[in-house]
Amino acid sequence: MQYTKPLARLIEEFQKLPGIGPKSAQRMAFHILKMPSAEVQKFCDAIIYAKEKIKYCRTCFNMSSEDPCEICSDERRDKHTICVVSETRDLIALERTREYKGLYHVLQGVISPLDGISPDDLRVKELLNRLGSDIEEIILALNPSVEGEATSLYLSRLIKPLGIKVTRIAFGLPVGADLEYADEVTLAKALEGRREIL
Ligand code: ZN
Repeated sequence: MQYTKPLARLIEEFQKLPGIGPKSAQRMAFHILKMPSAEVQKFCDAIIYAKEKIKYCRTCFNMSSEDPCEICSDERRDKHTICVVSETRDLIALERTREYKGLYHVLQGVISPLDGISPDDLRVKELLNRLGSDIEEIILALNPSVEGEATSLYLSRLIKPLGIKVTRIAFGLPVGADLEYADEVTLAKALEGRREIL
């Protein structure tokens, strides 16, 4: 069956989103067409507004409408500790625990040779540039996947020789689990139980 052209185009766009297959894309497209025009407009405006307003903090690379971001500019945060995560959504998961009071650094990915992602594609250089004498601990909070492990190892080898304590969060999660989907209690425990990388 052939979709009429505008519908085919809408389905095609939805299918570009992560985790959306042809069936979900079709369901979303039909849903949009049933929505009142004002609601559709509101939805489109929200996408464009977020895209325009949200930038990356030039210090920690957290997604934010401010630069420096709300965390980097917060005087109450402990400036001696940096927690390294791969994406802003992991930062948000850790913030939800309310346990961590230090700073963050968002790598914007993990090392993945299969996908052609090398350390140069990540915010590694920018992390190293932040490691002055005031930094006492780097907490690695990357997913317990092959890529996450490789990235943790790579970073600890770079940072430890600088005389900075490098720890990693203790995962109570199975290998391959996603940090962003972990509940607050599990994540808080993972932070609390972090171990120094020797
Ligand atoms: Zn920041």
